[in-house]
Amino acid sequence: MTTTEQEQRASKAKPGFRPDKTGSTVDIVTHAREHPEQTRPRPVIDGPRSSAGQVSVYIGVLLPLAALVAAVPLAWGWSLTWTDVVLFSVFYVVSGLGVTVGYHRYFTHGSFKANKGLRGALAVAGSLSVQGSVITWVADHRRHHAFSDTDGDPHSPWAFGDSPWALAKGFWHAHMGWLFERDVTNRIRFAPDLLKDRMILTIDKMFGVWVLVTLLLPALIGGLVTMSWWGAFTAFFWAGLVRVAVLHHITWSVNSICHMVGEKPYHSRDKAGNFWPLAVASFGESWHNSHHADPTCARHGVDKGQIDISARMIRVFERLGWATKVKWSKPERRAKLAAKAQEG
Ligand SMILES: [Zn+2]
Ligand SMILES: [Zn+2]
Repeated sequence: MTTTEQEQRASKAKPGFRPDKTGSTVDIVTHAREHPEQTRPRPVIDGPRSSAGQVSVYIGVLLPLAALVAAVPLAWGWSLTWTDVVLFSVFYVVSGLGVTVGYHRYFTHGSFKANKGLRGALAVAGSLSVQGSVITWVADHRRHHAFSDTDGDPHSPWAFGDSPWALAKGFWHAHMGWLFERDVTNRIRFAPDLLKDRMILTIDKMFGVWVLVTLLLPALIGGLVTMSWWGAFTAFFWAGLVRVAVLHHITWSVNSICHMVGEKPYHSRDKAGNFWPLAVASFGESWHNSHHADPTCARHGVDKGQIDISARMIRVFERLGWATKVKWSKPERRAKLAAKAQEG
């Protein structure tokens, strides 16, 4: 049989049937029975994290936190130099936007298309935040949206109920407790698109290297600028550890605080709220109700006066021609979501 005959035969096949490689039609049910692994939805959880992985999560979370706690008294005793302040700011902005523009709006939600250079740069910049490798972060966050504030959400503050004690427990769980749970989100189910991309897979596998870079590069620059070991050490402490810890807690506050309090002008299936005090530090991510209402939208601070630095950055990338097909907010859609919220 020629290819054209096969195609004709396939097009005449009844709906629910499709041609197999030999050109004959195959009942989907039979196919599913013979190849269950291809048709069954993958489980949400991909088994427990290894002990080594567990230890690295503890170190990655608790070491910067310890530095942050130590930083408070030390800030007065140590001369925090302008070099440290500048390095802190630069690394905060790069790793922060790497997470918000890169990991979140681009890789998780596909709010725009990026050229290859920007795609790679965003994956690396996000990795510098020490919040997990790009594919793992995306898988967890897509799972969060799929099950938002219901069973299956990896970090809902409402997981234990709504009594004061349950909410205190829920706050801890949503903020950072969930990171220590050993059940790992199934990346094959939630991020198959990224697993197919060799460049992203390589950046993902190199996560340990990016962690070293994000801690040691500020030290190297600080040492060279001041030409001293002490300058290298203070830059490592402030622009490395303390910066990572501050960014950790700002990001995690979106998961905890922004699912507990805040205004809800738009309809969403969950308890996400817009919380203005975190807008600047989170680069616009705390407009979380607007985000859950319209997840693929490139702008989260969609209303007048709502500062959204990540959206500004995407605008810059668009002007440079590096980002295309940006999904900007549409007034009709906003009006519809606002009306639905009013209905309750
Ligand atoms: Zn959320
Ligand atoms: Zn999201």
